[in-house]
Amino acid sequence: MYAGHFAVGLALKAKRPAAPTWAILLGTGFLDVLFGIFVMLGIERVTMTPHVGQGFSLDFIDWSHSLVMSLVWSALYGLIFWRRGRAVAFLIAFAVFSHFLLDLPMHPKDLALWPYAATHIGFGLWNRLPYGWWWIELAVIAGACAYYLHRARRQISFGGYAWWASAVVVVLHVLNAPWWKS
Ligand SMILES: [Zn+2]
Repeated sequence: MYAGHFAVGLALKAKRPAAPTWAILLGTGFLDVLFGIFVMLGIERVTMTPHVGQGFSLDFIDWSHSLVMSLVWSALYGLIFWRRGRAVAFLIAFAVFSHFLLDLPMHPKDLALWPYAATHIGFGLWNRLPYGWWWIELAVIAGACAYYLHRARRQISFGGYAWWASAVVVVLHVLNAPWWKS
């Protein structure tokens, strides 16, 4: 998933406004940040496949995106915010793990259970529904933003920019539509 990660981040912000927005949004994308660093270091591998599927093949992402490592990264990232209170730290940790949960339906079987595990999972909607996945992600975004906007009306702290934040996520999703790529 792409923009959907950030939409869910906004929903989590609405759930617990005391958690810093930047920490949640960075958290929802944290596994991809690690992925980028690990590819640069040569620890993980991706091959570009122009005009096939999503345009890339994730050959080895066990350290950033496996189930067990996702839980480890979530716990470590959440620990950084422990002093802000247990509830905030747990929410931020869950923001990191939500990345795995949202990638699971989209990715082909490239998500390992743990590094070098024989079993890799993923429901493969990117490949099975080359256009349909976009509508499914849009539904996730719509649901998450609706919850966020609903809560934002009562939260003066971030109510002022809730519409802008939602609009940015929707624009990102539209820019990422498969129709532009074919
Ligand atoms: Zn990812």
